[in-house]
Amino acid sequence: MKAKILALLRERGGYVSGQEMCDMFQVSRTAVWKAINQLKKEGYRIDAVSNKGYFLHPEEEVFGSHELESRIDTAWAGRPVHFFETIDSTNLRAKLEAEAGAKQGTLIVADEQTAGRGRRGRDWESPAGKNVYFTLLLRPEMDPGRASMLTLVMALAVAEGIQKTCRLDPQIKWPNDIVLEGKKICGMLTEMSLERDYIHYVVVGVGINVGLQCFPEPISATAACLQEFTGKPVNRATLIAEIMKSFEPLYDRFLQTYDMREIRQLYEDKLVNRNRQVRVLDPKGEYTGTARGINDRGELLVELPDGRTETVYAGEVSVRGLYGYT
Ligand code: ATP
Repeated sequence: MKAKILALLRERGGYVSGQEMCDMFQVSRTAVWKAINQLKKEGYRIDAVSNKGYFLHPEEEVFGSHELESRIDTAWAGRPVHFFETIDSTNLRAKLEAEAGAKQGTLIVADEQTAGRGRRGRDWESPAGKNVYFTLLLRPEMDPGRASMLTLVMALAVAEGIQKTCRLDPQIKWPNDIVLEGKKICGMLTEMSLERDYIHYVVVGVGINVGLQCFPEPISATAACLQEFTGKPVNRATLIAEIMKSFEPLYDRFLQTYDMREIRQLYEDKLVNRNRQVRVLDPKGEYTGTARGINDRGELLVELPDGRTETVYAGEVSVRGLYGYT
């Protein structure tokens, strides 16, 4: 009910009477009063004026489960949402939930990660109070070889979510980094569990740098946060809600063919590497070429100096610009 009260007060933008809430939610006045008091304890500024009702001051962000629930407006993505003040890693938690039978769409969100991870065992810097760390649980019925494409679907959803929330125009560095003016704003880690030859579940983890912060060496040269570009604070719950809203239709389109065919153009329109010289850091040997786009399976197409085209699979490979990160 707390999330519903928040959503109602926010939508009205003015006073809402206690009686109206009782009627709407079919609860007693005491129950409404208790819920309001708990929201106040969580940090919301809510005025109570007799004969007028309750008023929510809109300015502050209170990042938590009620805020998230009150903003997530989807059919299934982000439902339910579990929020943690601090956690080892949202991916690890999502995997535990998945093993215990949690349904597709379950979302784990944290304010801080103590063991945030990136691809190939790298760390993801995850300080408290500033950023977004979440993991979405999916249970697609498809061949495991296609799972890496879900990262690309999420990258597109994150880019769209940032676009809508911040009015910025982020780009995607293949396969799954979001960049603004060449700086890394967001990273992702997709992991899956198999049962025989089938996917048991997939977790897609996302870390987005949002508030102003000092990045430690060695990432300070390549990392940036959204607020550096917006010039004002970004509401993290709104951002997550918008990403979930973008993800649903993109995922539906992905499921039509179980590949990128339907959303390839959208992805390529945002691809920062397109028609740029790239260095492919392949464990079998580094090479350079010109990135031309992706194929239907989400692999990067790199034109080599001799005219041949190499298809690069996301799994083990990083891509860099010739003279810098992008
Ligand atoms: P890349 O191509 O940048 O190496 P990747 O996709 O292989 O990226 P990710 O899993 O996305 O790697 O991210 C891990 C890497 O990102 C780390 O090794 C570190 O260099 C960098 N990094 C860690 N934390 C952050 C952060 N908060 N913001 C930006 N970059 C970060």
